Amino acid sequence: MFTSLSDRLTATFKNLRGKGRLSESDVNATIRDIRLALLDADVSLPVVKKFTHAVRERAMGAEVSGALNPAQQVVKIVNEELVDILGGATRTIVFAKNPPTVIMLAGLQGAGKTTLAGKLGRWLKEQGHTPILVAADLQRPNAVTQLEVVGERAGIPVYAPERGNIGGHDAVGPTGEGTKSFGDPVAVSRAGIEQARRAQHDVVIVDTAGRLAVDENLMQQAADIRAAISPDEVLFVIDAMIGQAAVDTALAFQEGVDFTGVVLSKLDGDARGGAALSVASVTGRPIMFASTGEGVKDFEVFHPDRMASRILD
Ligand code: GDP
Repeated sequence: MFTSLSDRLTATFKNLRGKGRLSESDVNATIRDIRLALLDADVSLPVVKKFTHAVRERAMGAEVSGALNPAQQVVKIVNEELVDILGGATRTIVFAKNPPTVIMLAGLQGAGKTTLAGKLGRWLKEQGHTPILVAADLQRPNAVTQLEVVGERAGIPVYAPERGNIGGHDAVGPTGEGTKSFGDPVAVSRAGIEQARRAQHDVVIVDTAGRLAVDENLMQQAADIRAAISPDEVLFVIDAMIGQAAVDTALAFQEGVDFTGVVLSKLDGDARGGAALSVASVTGRPIMFASTGEGVKDFEVFHPDRMASRILD
């Protein structure tokens, strides 16, 4: 991912090499190239505008002196502005003063939530935490089983509703309409947290249901779970492969569940990736983690500075 963006930006900077001083037209040409490279990589338009504006201001005012030549100076500016767009400083889970810390996962179906639950659980365990996963995705019967498999692979216990209770009844949502579900995800989430308290797990990861597209029932259900369990973190998991739709999806989830952080999944794919990179800037929420494969170890803390360096490498 990002190779095309990376190549384009590198080519742009090459044009500046050897210049002793940057003229206004040098800066304009560079900004134009950067703008096209970002747009072609699917970075959202408002983000591109904000970015190029900031780079232009700083590049025009840049002192052509000191240790850096003009080309290096522009690279430095672009790097710093990229870090800013990607959320600035690295930020991960903020733990609750009184455990358990409750982390809710939200996102579209197929985004990678269930897989992430295992990865995050494993990462937390490595740091000495004692996480438990809660199966509150009750839309698809398979989802509970899938989380159990993920938990087993990661060596993390899973709280799931009793199979006897999974009878295929229609749960009645707060608005009165039936939601096709085989249990009450709010009740299961609450019970999972209770179980965590009893068994002294210090972190609870609640996996919730997704749909293929944003819909009202899904969002209401996620909002109901959020209201009922007051999570310390709500992580919005977004598939970096969905391209342009990433920004609108993120905004819909921000309105619905007011997430506290973003997880970019499928960063191992070959999509252009720019839309996913826009999510932090558009929502003002940090990208905390990246998922880079199907395995439980394919997971890393997202560092805006390292990602920027990777893109500009
Ligand atoms: P959920 O519906 O949001 O719970 O999504 P899942 O966790 O079930 O993931 C959907 C599919 O994407 C599964 O086949 C996962 O193995 C796959 N997947 C999840 N994360 C990644 C990732 O980072 N990279 C790749 N290549 N596949 C992933």
